[in-house]
Amino acid sequence: MFIDLARIFVKAGNGGNGAVAFLREKYRPFGGPAGGDGGKGGDVVLVATHRKHTLLDFEYRTKFVAQNGEHGKGKNQAGKDGEDLLIEVPVGTVVKDANTGEILCDLVEEGQRCVVARGGKGGRGNARFATPTNQAPKYAEKGQKGEERWLILELKLIADVGIIGLPNAGKSTLISKLTKAKPKIADYPFTTLSPVLGVLELDDEHRLVLADIPGLIEGASQGRGLGLDFLRHIERTKILLHLLDVSDGREKDPIEAFHAVNRELEQYSQKLLEKEQIVVATKIDALSERSLLKDLGEYFRGKGYEFCSISALTGEGLEDLKKVLFDRFFHRSLVYTN
Ligand code: GDP
Ligand code: MG
Repeated sequence: MFIDLARIFVKAGNGGNGAVAFLREKYRPFGGPAGGDGGKGGDVVLVATHRKHTLLDFEYRTKFVAQNGEHGKGKNQAGKDGEDLLIEVPVGTVVKDANTGEILCDLVEEGQRCVVARGGKGGRGNARFATPTNQAPKYAEKGQKGEERWLILELKLIADVGIIGLPNAGKSTLISKLTKAKPKIADYPFTTLSPVLGVLELDDEHRLVLADIPGLIEGASQGRGLGLDFLRHIERTKILLHLLDVSDGREKDPIEAFHAVNRELEQYSQKLLEKEQIVVATKIDALSERSLLKDLGEYFRGKGYEFCSISALTGEGLEDLKKVLFDRFFHRSLVYTN
């Protein structure tokens, strides 16, 4: 299981101050105290929704402040309450206080809400403080401060599809093209230090969680290299996309690369090796001898694998790859209407 994490700051609205005011009417020079109450500050409320699938939005926005209550006014007018600030999070989000680690709520159902910061109460206006002995109080209450705190949001995701392949095979680039994930991409091995998750939206109702599995290298299953921890995660996926660099600048023969990675998988667990793999030749924009694809296709199909070829750079083959995934997971064909 992968955990999608976010850290956000929330602050509820402050309560408005109560007003100090007196009625001054033409024929009632001492009309009495008439300061209204301050409005209540808005709460910050998390709401669970199925429309969201990751906590990615919180990388861009981490600060959430609800509206303050208005101050009270003269003529006994109360200030308006501040509006609650609703923050949508994916169903399955666990909410913790960042300082104490205390679990505040576990949002498991559509529409479930959790108030994570309460708005301050409005202060009472001076009209409230009039007594028989003090008929014209000159004081009012201040509004209370809204609560504020840092939260940790945790979303547990099970990846449907693991993307494997040697370092530089193009795993990070592919996930960044298919999803909104923003992995680091560079021209040297081991750029990916932790698994990156992305959600592939096939259509309005069908989506898959993809996991970019960091560089599997020879020896990873003995604890060398970076792959070990993450190999454990791929055990939960249903399908592996096995990426093979077929560009002219490839570091290894694609068939050798395929078997090297599979030897790694096998050493780690037989179960992994038995998972369905779709073989994906990558970087075909930089391949001058296209006949290689025909040969590889024959080789892998002959061994019972589905074979696709793509360029994450130009987008060639990506729609076909999506169709194959859709078919595998949802057992019917993906039809794009426009
Ligand atoms: P990873 O190690 O498997 O995650 O590989 P990366 O996604 O980081 O890619 C390694 C290098 O290959 C980067 O320099 C990418 O820009 C390059 N690359 C990835 N996909 C393509 C592609 O479709 N075409 C070309 N020409 N280069 C690519
Ligand atoms: Mg990478």
